[in-house]
Amino acid sequence: MCSGRVDLAFVLKAFLKGMDGVFIGGCRLNECNYVTHGNYHALNMVLLFKRIMEHIGLNPERLKIEFMSAADANIFVETVNGFVKTVKALGPLGEGEGITPRELKSRLAEMSKLVPYLKLVNQEKLAAHLKTPEEYDGFFTKEEIDGLFRDMVSYYIDPEKCQACMTCLRRCPVEAIVGGKNKIHVIDQDKCIKCGTCLEVCPSRFDSVRKISGEPVPPPIPEEKRMLVRKGKEK
Ligand code: SF4
Ligand code: SF4
Repeated sequence: MCSGRVDLAFVLKAFLKGMDGVFIGGCRLNECNYVTHGNYHALNMVLLFKRIMEHIGLNPERLKIEFMSAADANIFVETVNGFVKTVKALGPLGEGEGITPRELKSRLAEMSKLVPYLKLVNQEKLAAHLKTPEEYDGFFTKEEIDGLFRDMVSYYIDPEKCQACMTCLRRCPVEAIVGGKNKIHVIDQDKCIKCGTCLEVCPSRFDSVRKISGEPVPPPIPEEKRMLVRKGKEK
């Protein structure tokens, strides 16, 4: 019902399913029936996603948001007709941009994995209420988005410090931590959504989780070396 419910993940899913364009229709700004004003959130999400589209080589014109009331049939018709015309002129998604279907799928899938991280780091801006359309353009800049991906954080469990308490494994929202009783825990970087929960919950006396930025994540400790030998129990 509310455009604020349109998540970044939904837009990505539409593109992943082969849609050539995505249009979001929201209530007029400042006319929201609820205190949430979700249409502002939808607008900010679109502004962010347009920059992300540029970053991955897609034409941002393939995504559009417009605000109108239920009585604005003429605006709706004009907007949708105009959008369909734009998307048709751009051609099929990826093909119009010179990206192979395989590469397109891989770029979109990579972004889908990062949705929770992108929402987390842009939390404040996504909640902003922009006053005028003039503010839209510069709200998210190309430099900002390029920097976001350049300085992307990763999380790593130091095998020298992990005490296999299993707290992080239980709290990870996507089961990205591999471990078990008396086994040094390891983060599966392909599954990790960079939420930072493991860093928060690892007991300070162990301090085993590291936040890494701007450098490669060390390779995981080999499976056969993950058994934890506790002090005093060594033969
Ligand atoms: S940051 Fe930690 S808790 Fe969050 S998804 Fe990655 S491994 Fe799991
Ligand atoms: S919370 Fe810390 S000490 Fe406990 S298993 Fe995870 S990384 Fe190891």
